[in-house]
Amino acid sequence: MSDASRTKTPQFSLETLLTHAGREPDDQFGFVNTPVYRGSTILFKTLADLDAQAQPYLYGRAGNPTTASVESVVTELEGAHRTRLVPSGLAAITIAVMSCVKAGDDILITDSAYEPGRKFADGFLERMGVSVRYYDPRIGAGLAALMRPNTKAVLAESPGSLTFEVQDIPALAQVAHAGGARLIVDNSWASPLYHRPLALGADIVVHAGTKMFVGHSDAFAGTISTTEAAWADVERVRALLGFFTSGDDAYLVARGLRTLAIRMKEHQQRALEIAAWLEKHEEVTSVLHPALPSHPDHALWQRDFTGAGSLFGVVLKPAPRAAVAAFVDHLELFTMGYSWGGYESLCLPVAIRNARSVRPWSDEGNLLRLHIGLEGVEDLKSDLAAALERYALAR
Ligand SMILES: *Cc1c(COP(=O)(O)O)cnc(C)c1O
Repeated sequence: MSDASRTKTPQFSLETLLTHAGREPDDQFGFVNTPVYRGSTILFKTLADLDAQAQPYLYGRAGNPTTASVESVVTELEGAHRTRLVPSGLAAITIAVMSCVKAGDDILITDSAYEPGRKFADGFLERMGVSVRYYDPRIGAGLAALMRPNTKAVLAESPGSLTFEVQDIPALAQVAHAGGARLIVDNSWASPLYHRPLALGADIVVHAGTKMFVGHSDAFAGTISTTEAAWADVERVRALLGFFTSGDDAYLVARGLRTLAIRMKEHQQRALEIAAWLEKHEEVTSVLHPALPSHPDHALWQRDFTGAGSLFGVVLKPAPRAAVAAFVDHLELFTMGYSWGGYESLCLPVAIRNARSVRPWSDEGNLLRLHIGLEGVEDLKSDLAAALERYALAR
């Protein structure tokens, strides 16, 4: 799809954009996929060329055709003005935040935020003279009571990737804008296929591209997509800080994106089936999955999302740590590890108690986070059923 045909409102379905956007075979000798470009130095032919700075690429750190290819796909999916590919999801968060705040400003962050983002705020922003406060993820329009004249950014993540509260993005956007702040949304869980925060009023959307976009647990990347008004600040901070993503990693993101729609569909279906099944199990006290009618934010999820991700939480009846070990140590298919989004299923015990400041997590049960991969769903259920039996015996 050429630049000229790129529009803010896609005429094609998101599935079609995923397969066709960001590819320029005519510029690549007919090859379907934009190949890996590696390079720092980009040559100029004449002094006039150097002075004009009009070439599409000037120096490798600002990007190359492989990174640009990924950026244009994500721009179309998010309905954004532009997108930057950055080296990790965490870098996407830190750059987006720094594009909004300076010394003397204030930022409000959801209490359910991805923990390394929280550590960045507490350990770095505070040191740079920015005040950091947290809000209840279910606060909605009540955020207005927390706004201060110097509040310049609101950082949301919906749903939270450990506890799965859904946030009222239109309400947060309205409050943020009324106070002169920008709303940043981490949209990693749903992907732009199932949730489009810019259309709901957000200014900046970030993704841990490492997760669903890459989809194979083998590369790091982040993306920052913005409205026209927010773009210049984001790009300035990225360029000043020297963030760059290699063509090799960009290629893996592009490769993953081509099959995102079909993977999301399969992850969603398996995750929902397993979540509903777990909900009925006697060792389970609750399942934290916004697409289940029992979830407290189900109505909000139905209003703003068109689908669900691979990731959800399950709270098991209170039991000593040894019972959790009995559950996870002998799983046959699920494996234990940080991250998520690959084709393989993961199960991670989560220690949430110390990660909250606004509304402490009081559930006494053991919280596990599951990423449902692309294995056969009955095999996954058998693995979990055996684990629940071990848990019950050890409890
Ligand atoms: C993993 C994750 C990130 C950070 O991504 P990295 O690429 O690991 O830095 C950010 N947000 C969410 C919701 C994540 O799950």
